Amino acid sequence: MTDHNTTDKTTADKIVSAEQLLLSRGVKPTPQRVVIADYLLQTDSHPTADEVLSAVSGALPVALSRATVYNTLNTLKDAGVIKEVLTEPGRVRYDANVSHHHHFVDVKTGQILDIPADKVEAIGQLLGDQYKVHGFQVLFYGELEQN
Ligand SMILES: [Zn+2]
Repeated sequence: MTDHNTTDKTTADKIVSAEQLLLSRGVKPTPQRVVIADYLLQTDSHPTADEVLSAVSGALPVALSRATVYNTLNTLKDAGVIKEVLTEPGRVRYDANVSHHHHFVDVKTGQILDIPADKVEAIGQLLGDQYKVHGFQVLFYGELEQN
């Protein structure tokens, strides 16, 4: 499990600018990194790299290439600014909510919602002594109720 660093001002319950967040993670805040991190901090849609590209294209005076977006997402991921989410085979999505949580996929709309970790915490304990669990991810599929 991760250590709780009480002096870290970048935890999920604090709103910080993308630039501050990058600096606090030791990432040089280049314009493309700031733009991409800022977009991810403001959306809860769990976008793919292509969705990030189309969302931020036009935000910079110079056009962003696909390769730049991929490289930037990897840099942000390696620095712990964002994390990868796998909700379907072969498609990586990105999430600026780096706290431990799970996901619900609405199979009708494709919407991906965050499920707090404490809703499913007990499942790991059900495995008992037989398994040494380092962590787990749960993915729920279904439909949102209409009311
Ligand atoms: Zn999420």
